[in-house]
Amino acid sequence: MINQYQSNQAYAREQDARDPLRQFREQFIIPPAKSGGEAIYFCGNSLGLQPKNTRSYLDRELEKWATYAVDGHFHAPEPWLHYHRLLKEPLARIVGAKPEEVVVMNNLSSNLHFLMVSFYQPTTKRYKVLMEGGAFPSDQYAVESQVKFRGYTPEEAIVEVFPREGEQTLRTEDILAAIEQHQDELALVLFAGLQYYTGQVFDMAAITKAGQAAGAKVGFDLAHAAGNVPLQLHDWGVDFAAWCSYKYLNSGPGSNSGIFVHERYANQAELPRFAGWWGHDEKERFLMQKGFKPMYGADGWQLSNGNILPLAAQRASLEIFEQAGMDNLRQKSIQLTGYLEYLIREEVSSKANRLQIITPSQPEERGCQLSLFVEKNGKQLFEQISQAGVVGDWREPNVIRVAPTPLYNTFTDVFQFAQLLKKAIKEQ
Ligand SMILES: *Cc1c(COP(=O)(O)O)cnc(C)c1O
Repeated sequence: MINQYQSNQAYAREQDARDPLRQFREQFIIPPAKSGGEAIYFCGNSLGLQPKNTRSYLDRELEKWATYAVDGHFHAPEPWLHYHRLLKEPLARIVGAKPEEVVVMNNLSSNLHFLMVSFYQPTTKRYKVLMEGGAFPSDQYAVESQVKFRGYTPEEAIVEVFPREGEQTLRTEDILAAIEQHQDELALVLFAGLQYYTGQVFDMAAITKAGQAAGAKVGFDLAHAAGNVPLQLHDWGVDFAAWCSYKYLNSGPGSNSGIFVHERYANQAELPRFAGWWGHDEKERFLMQKGFKPMYGADGWQLSNGNILPLAAQRASLEIFEQAGMDNLRQKSIQLTGYLEYLIREEVSSKANRLQIITPSQPEERGCQLSLFVEKNGKQLFEQISQAGVVGDWREPNVIRVAPTPLYNTFTDVFQFAQLLKKAIKEQ
């Protein structure tokens, strides 16, 4: 695809016709717009759309439950006992991990807590947690409650890094400088991979290297990164990570989270953790004996038996990712979001300077989302475009987030969105 974007519908249609991934939209259920027709759905960063194959994956498990009942755990095809294993390879490819380094379990905020039990080990000298300022509230609450649980106050133990005065996003050099500044007291660096509000992708490799050089553990919340941007968790040497599956991973509302624990911990049975029977050595699990022996790898962090229905929904989605390939998706994503940026700059911001894209303009510093900072009446503008058929989201205090996703959005969606936005601004 070429980079000479044009602001007309014929151009957008032509890009769609040439898009090698165009048939994937057919595999999703596009919701109706309030104004009739199909919605311009730019909210895959909040809840990914339903793949058409989800229902059959769910039906298969319901059928198994009906036919085999309790024997479904051991004696059915794809027995539930090992069902989580079926997700490992495709998911590992998405996050750049080895299959043993990932497992799907629980939900994201719960997993952040479980992982901090293992990887936030404060000592009298090292007890601080470094995170990005303005992190997603659940992550802030999780870290605050973890430090309090260990006997510290958030004021003494949490260090937040903020953008410079007059800037919207963080500079890597400032993150690294903060790590260095606190290096003697730092126990954990916990950052988002992609910031939910600004859409900024952090330099995870550099943060990991600097955090570990300072003697801290480094973990990432990849809620907005998994299935959106390229990740190399294993090679970057990240200690741990967690993400949810209902955003870009299209696995349905509240569906299970995934975790990554680096191979270097795979055999560390002595690492503190909150244990449950599903993390216990599979060969002995049903002997029902005392004495926890963790499974090898990320599996050793499981507590409960697998949530089969959400796991089945996630398999349906991972099958589509396998067909499309993360590299191809990323390539299209850069084009699609680049087109959105171009149209907003050309058609909207240049004519009405109340609207500013706060997401970085370098493709490697962002995923598919653009965050549009609206100077005034932002909420009203958001409601106008919603009425006109756009599904995006509004984040207080003044940002409209739009995320064209490469699996099911089109260049025509992007073009139409820009037209609607321009019209709504004019009408204000
Ligand atoms: C979406 C999101 C969450 C949501 O947490 P759940 O436990 O899945 O409800 C948490 N953290 C971040 C950074 C998110 O983007």
